[in-house]
Amino acid sequence: MDSRCGTHPGWQVHNKRREKPCEPCRVARNGYQRWRYAGYAEPAQPRAAPESKRAIGARYRAGDGFVELSRLFGRHPQTIKKIVVDQGIALRRHATRGRRTNARCLDSEQRGEMAARYRNGWSVRELARAYRVSYGTAHNALTSMGVRLRRQGSGT
Ligand SMILES: [Zn+2]
Repeated sequence: MDSRCGTHPGWQVHNKRREKPCEPCRVARNGYQRWRYAGYAEPAQPRAAPESKRAIGARYRAGDGFVELSRLFGRHPQTIKKIVVDQGIALRRHATRGRRTNARCLDSEQRGEMAARYRNGWSVRELARAYRVSYGTAHNALTSMGVRLRRQGSGT
C-alpha cells in the first residue's frame, strides 16, 4: 500500500510499478474513468450558478482553456464551451491545454510580428514566453517566416 492508495494517482503508481492495483485504487480508477469518459456524470451536477458562469467566462477571457476550466469547475469541456458561447464571448481559435503547448497555432499575423520582434533583438526564448508557446513552436514560426536565426550565445 502507498499513501496515494484509494486515489487515481495511486492507481497510476501501481500501474507504473507493473503491480496489480489494490482494491481501493481499482475503485478510485473506475470512478475516475467514469468521470473522465462518461460525461463527468458523477455525482449528478446541478446547473451552473450564474456567478460560476461569469467566473468561467472571465477565466476563459484571461486565457484559461476549456480543459483547465473543466477541471477547475468540475464540468465537461463541452459544457464549459457552451457557457462561454452563451455569454457572447468570442472563442479563441484553439483552446489551450495548459499554459504552454505546441497545440496553440500562431496565425500568420502573429508569426510576422514575432519575426519583426526577433529582428529587433528579441530572443527565441523571450518570444516563446510572450506568445505562450514552446521554444520549438517559436523557432518554427520564425523559420517559417524566412527568418535567419542568430546563433545561440552570440550575445544578441
Ligand atoms: Zn493502491
